[in-house]
Amino acid sequence: MLYGAIEAGGTKFNLGIGDAQGNLLKHLTIPTRNPDETMKEVVAFFETFPITSLGLGCFGPLELNETSPRYGFITTTPKKEWVAYDILGTLKQHLGIPIAMNTDVGAAALGEITFGTFQSQQTLLYLTIGTGIGGGYVINGQIHNGLLHPEIGHIHINRQPEDFHTANCRYHKNCLEGLAAGPAIESRTGLPGDQVPDDHPVFPLISDYIGQALAACILVLSPTKIVLGGGVMNRSFLYPLIRQSTLAQLNGYLEAEAFQHMETYIVPPSLGNQSGIMGCLALALGK
Ligand code: ZN
Repeated sequence: MLYGAIEAGGTKFNLGIGDAQGNLLKHLTIPTRNPDETMKEVVAFFETFPITSLGLGCFGPLELNETSPRYGFITTTPKKEWVAYDILGTLKQHLGIPIAMNTDVGAAALGEITFGTFQSQQTLLYLTIGTGIGGGYVINGQIHNGLLHPEIGHIHINRQPEDFHTANCRYHKNCLEGLAAGPAIESRTGLPGDQVPDDHPVFPLISDYIGQALAACILVLSPTKIVLGGGVMNRSFLYPLIRQSTLAQLNGYLEAEAFQHMETYIVPPSLGNQSGIMGCLALALGK
């Protein structure tokens, strides 16, 4: 049997066809345009395969409460054409198969724990640090949604005293995404992200902020594994800085074996940039 997977992002949609063993057999990436154009291409792709079900990991915020009349809608995204868009309803109407939906980062967390090397973990926190910052949390094999779904990118950060940067978030002056995501790195340095030199002081600064957020997540969620993905984390030297900063924030208050081995506690994705699409496949499989 074949299953469909959609990783719906703000700049591109990754579409995949896979089997129950987690083999991705077909893959197509299309740019995110307006909903009509984008969804026409998405539907055309999936109509050519006899898929049993579909998993959708979508940019948000989303309405994931199944009792809500707006279940499956993208709600308040900065991408104006997609505000209040019924993405789940559109797919169901055209494809007529069962569809499981979650956030893109929730799916990535599920992908890592289902098909990655972290299958023995009871809990896993996945953060993507790229154009935006988002986090997904899996507990006992299920993505945690709760009231809405986690929005870890907008957690409050204490600025360093000399940091007067105007945050790149229109809702918050001091949130993680506004101070430490890709656009914040670019506006702080005046350089395209990939041209900022490794030794630029922006990197210790954002590592401090990411460490603050991770310490808060550890205190609230007590995750057994933390995976950091996204374009910014392609700079692998950030991992040691972030591990250090996380420990500094906790300041010895918690004792856990994991804190003695931070290089295996805060880690890169074991599936590389496939965590999201593999998580969508896991959603389709009902895992
Ligand atoms: Zn914010």
